[in-house]
Amino acid sequence: MTLDLRSKIRDVPDFPKKGILFKDVMPLIGDAAYFAESIRQLAEWSRPREPDLVLGAEARGFIFGAALAYDLGAGFIAARKPGKLPWETVEATYALEYGTDSLEVHRDSIAAGARVIVLDDVLATGGTAKAKCELVERLGGIVAGALFVIELTFLNGREQLAGHDVHSLIQY
Ligand code: AMP
Repeated sequence: MTLDLRSKIRDVPDFPKKGILFKDVMPLIGDAAYFAESIRQLAEWSRPREPDLVLGAEARGFIFGAALAYDLGAGFIAARKPGKLPWETVEATYALEYGTDSLEVHRDSIAAGARVIVLDDVLATGGTAKAKCELVERLGGIVAGALFVIELTFLNGREQLAGHDVHSLIQY
């Protein structure tokens, strides 16, 4: 029997601010069987795309991304908020509801031609994932797929990722 991953996603109203229905994945990753099943499903989609690397952003992207990379036998790249990475970086800026934010990766983290799965827990408006895809391509890598545990389809984040292979395990 396949476990219903959706049953382990907790809705938290008005977090981090009023009007946002936050999809909390902590119950999912805190349950051994459900966490393993989520990684199994992420790996099943990723494996035929033959990734060399998985790229995830802090903080929940690290949790799923590192486990997925290990399962695939791929490397893991951390995308971080500006100023967190110790060595030379490249940066991409993306729009938020109010203002902008940025992510950085080390400039030597992706070899030319490397195939990269871009992963996050939630696809919302798509701005974050688009910025990560831009970082991969600026460093000469190939986006092998954009992968999410949860997709908020009503926000049309896929439109930001046009031209990429996009997949999510759970849709709302
Ligand atoms: P976006 O750039 O709008 O696609 O936002 C994606 C990022 O914000 C992801 O890293 C998510 O973890 C987080 N995020 C956005 N909306 C939600 C939500 N409703 N519940 C949980 N996380 C969210």
